[in-house]
Amino acid sequence: MFHHWFGDLVTTESWANLTVNESFATYSVYLWFAHKYGKDKADANMYSDVQTYMASQSEDKDLVRFYYLDKEDMFDTVSYHKGNAILHMLRDVIGDEAFFEGMNTYLTTYKYGTAEAHQLRLVFEKVSGMDLNWFFNQWYFGSGHIKMNVTYDFNTINKTVTVNVNQKGNIFKFPLSIDIYEETGKNTHNVWVENAQNSFTFSFNKMPKLINIDAKHVLLAEIAVKKTINEYIFQFNNAPHYLDRKFALEEISKDQSNKDVFSTFIKALNDPYYEIRILALENIDLFQKYNKKEAIDKIVKMAQSDPKTLVQAAAIGVLGKLLDPVYKPLFENGMNSESFAVTGKSLISLYQIDKQAALAKLNTINENTKTYLADAVTSIYISEKDKTKLPFIANHILKGMFLTEDKRTQQTYAEAFKWISESDNKEAITNLTNDFVTLGLRYKKYKFDQLSVNMLNQLVYAQQQSKNSNKNELIIILKTGIAKLLK
Ligand SMILES: [Zn+2]
Repeated sequence: MFHHWFGDLVTTESWANLTVNESFATYSVYLWFAHKYGKDKADANMYSDVQTYMASQSEDKDLVRFYYLDKEDMFDTVSYHKGNAILHMLRDVIGDEAFFEGMNTYLTTYKYGTAEAHQLRLVFEKVSGMDLNWFFNQWYFGSGHIKMNVTYDFNTINKTVTVNVNQKGNIFKFPLSIDIYEETGKNTHNVWVENAQNSFTFSFNKMPKLINIDAKHVLLAEIAVKKTINEYIFQFNNAPHYLDRKFALEEISKDQSNKDVFSTFIKALNDPYYEIRILALENIDLFQKYNKKEAIDKIVKMAQSDPKTLVQAAAIGVLGKLLDPVYKPLFENGMNSESFAVTGKSLISLYQIDKQAALAKLNTINENTKTYLADAVTSIYISEKDKTKLPFIANHILKGMFLTEDKRTQQTYAEAFKWISESDNKEAITNLTNDFVTLGLRYKKYKFDQLSVNMLNQLVYAQQQSKNSNKNELIIILKTGIAKLLK
């Protein structure tokens, strides 16, 4: 719907300026999430968008690009995800009032016409009263992102700390927020970074508990900084941003033999934001030496009544790993949930403590529902080495291997892929080939067609090496799929 304004009412003047459509459309997700579900959800989504850009190796591409081979090349992670993060930074630089007024002025000024990035800059300069060439030159007409290394020098006699910010690669100019926490509260400092090496000195009353760099988490940046376990625990408990909690939990998760770390994990189970609760569930170590009863009682409650079914599912997954038959009724009950996430985790957890009961349940599930529970059902079929289920597995394998981020799921499907590639099952090979063709053509933009061709060639090779009685027929099915992808 955002394209009604940024795209239809005002259209990009050229493909080179596609950012004036797509970056706004992507940023609308941030605005909507923040409005509808709260800032944590918006920030979590922004982080995932930034990771998509970071992983894409697009550091050499300007946001506004005049040289491209095909207009389709402009519809990439730079125009969408990076542009999204850049608008978020711009909003921080000029403030909410100027940012939203600027969007409005831009739309009214250029309505029923076209515009380019410089016109956007002029509007934001007008409403903010700031010169923004420095911002647009590096972020719109330049490439890459901030890479900085941060160190501290404490002077306990003068009671000062010097924060050293060293940039690598392209040197950016940017405002940097630094929160310095003492026992009594925090002081926020805003400094201006513009050199390769920068140092800022601040005084304190008592030795700081934590120094939080880019405390607002608005910079499109890779920041290397070392913190102690105690600093991360303090950060989890005191710093307000979603990423402060997420990074802290991830960093301390390896040290759960430390009592304070384990208590932090228990506290995280009560986090107001569900993704933090899931992160805590997925990483909590219930096999260490401390009293786990409090944690387990809490997890049982979460499994039954957390307001988010995704959290219920994660809690059921944790209880499943305990391999304790006492939870059998809870898993059986979970099988009746309206949530596929809960049903799937319950099925797997039940399977781990009572195979016969789980298989009996599985047989009562209709085929359509099974497709929604594909991860759980597939992993059971694989464990059971049930050859008659190969065609079902084949239908879900590519999604499991490539469209999920969960490592364990990917591994399960990679195993299944190997199994099918060596099998003699005509229906399974046909299903898998069709899936390669459909997804390969659909995700051509991400070169999934080339990957599909490579993998189908591997399947051809596996069949050629095999002693399968159907192998000639199977090779024809595979090669027909390859031909469709190369067409
Ligand atoms: Zn769009």
